[in-house]
Amino acid sequence: NLGKVGDRLDLPVYAVGGFVRDLLLGSENRDVDVTVEGDGILFAETFAAEFGCRVKSHEKFGTAVLVFPDGHKIDVASTRLEYYVSPGALPTVERSSLRMDLYRRDFTVNTLAIQLNAASFGLLIDFFGAYRDLHDGVIRVLHNLSFVEDPTRVFRAIRFEQRLHFRIARHTENLIKNAVKMDFLEKLGGRRLLAELVQILKEKEPLSAVWRLESLGLLRFIHPALEASPPSHDLMEEARDVISWFELLFLERRYERWVVYFLALCDSLSSEAFEGACARLALNVHFQEKLKEMRRSAEERMANMEKRLSQQGRLENNEIYYFFKGLSVEVLLYRMAKSGNPELKRCISLYFTKLDSVRTSIDGTDLQRIGVPPGPRYREILDAVLSAKLNGVVFSKEEEIALAKS
Ligand code: ATP
Repeated sequence: NLGKVGDRLDLPVYAVGGFVRDLLLGSENRDVDVTVEGDGILFAETFAAEFGCRVKSHEKFGTAVLVFPDGHKIDVASTRLEYYVSPGALPTVERSSLRMDLYRRDFTVNTLAIQLNAASFGLLIDFFGAYRDLHDGVIRVLHNLSFVEDPTRVFRAIRFEQRLHFRIARHTENLIKNAVKMDFLEKLGGRRLLAELVQILKEKEPLSAVWRLESLGLLRFIHPALEASPPSHDLMEEARDVISWFELLFLERRYERWVVYFLALCDSLSSEAFEGACARLALNVHFQEKLKEMRRSAEERMANMEKRLSQQGRLENNEIYYFFKGLSVEVLLYRMAKSGNPELKRCISLYFTKLDSVRTSIDGTDLQRIGVPPGPRYREILDAVLSAKLNGVVFSKEEEIALAKS
C-alpha cells in the first residue's frame, strides 16, 4: 500500500535502514522506516487519509510518523541532507536525493533501501557496499569524519557490533580510537550520551558491549574515575544473573533493567563520583536524587543487616521487611548482585516473592469500630499487626482484630 500511494502521487518510495538490514539478516524488526524521494509529509498525509492512520508531521525536518489504529508506527522521511553545525549538535536539514540521504547514515549496513513502488517493487538499492558488509559481518562508517559529525555513532557502532555479532572494521575502529584520543566525546551532550548508554544497557546481552566500551577507553566519558577504578566484571555478570532470575519470577513489577546495570557499572564510584556521573549524563534531577539516596540508604541498611545476621544467625520476616521497605526494585537487585552473603540474598529473594505483598486485612475503620481513639497509635497498632502477620503469628482478620485489641 505504501508503494501504491507513492505511485499515485508519482513519488518514489523506499523502505530503508535498520528494517532492511534486519530483513536481510532474517531478524525481526517492526520499526519500518520509509523514505520518500520528494515530499514525505504530503505522502504521509495522503496515506493516512486513505488507510485511517493518524499522522504527526514535523515540517521543519520533512518527516512524519504514521500511527495505525493498533498503535503500530511507520516513520516517513523526505530525502534530505543534514548539516552538522558543530560536532555533537543536532543537525539542520535540507532536501536532496536518496543517495545523499543514505550517505548521511551511520554505517554501511544501515544504508540499504528497497523500492516499494509497483513497477520495481522489491528492488534492493545498495550504494555503499552494504550487502557485502552485511554478508561479512562488518560495521563500517561511510566516511572519515563520521564520528566527528556525530560522536553518538561510536556507541551505536559498539551496540550493533555486539548485538549482531559483527566486528567493527579496522579503519573504523581506528577512527573511534582517534575520536577518543581527541576527546570528541567530551562535546557530546549529557542527554545524548545517556540515551546511547541506556540503549546499550537495554540490549538483551549488554555486557560484551560494556567491555568493548571499557577496552576502547569510553567509560571515562561517563566519569573519569571509571577508568581508574573500572567496573567489576564479576558484579556485572552477577547483575545479569539476578536480572534473569527476577524476570523468571513474572512478578509483574515494573522496573528498569538498565538502572540495575547502571548501578552495577558505577559500583566502584564514591558518592561524589556517582553524583558526577549522574550529572554528566544529565539524569532528571529528581531521579538523580532518588538514585543517590537509595544507593546510600541501601549501603547503610545492608551493613546493619549483616551485623544483625552475624549476631542472631537469622532474621525475622518483619525485620527483613522493614530493612528493605521503600527501596526500589533496581537498587535491591543491584544489592542482591553485590552481596556475597547467601543469607542476605535469600532475604532479598523472600522480600520480593512473599513479604513485599503482605498487607493487613484490618485498617483504620476497623480500629475505630473496636473503639481505639484516632491518633498516632493507629500507625503503631497496624505496624504491630503487620509484623505479626509477616512472622506468621496471625492469619485471619479475626486474629488481627484480637491482636489489635490487646
Ligand atoms: P534498532 O534496532 O536499534 O532500532 P535501527 O537501525 O532501527 O536499530 P534507529 O536508532 O532506529 O536504529 O535508527 C534508524 C536509522 O537511522 C538507522 O538505521 C540509521 O541508519 C539511522 N541513524 C540513527 N542514528 C543515526 C546517527 N546518529 N547517525 C546516522 N544515522 C543514524
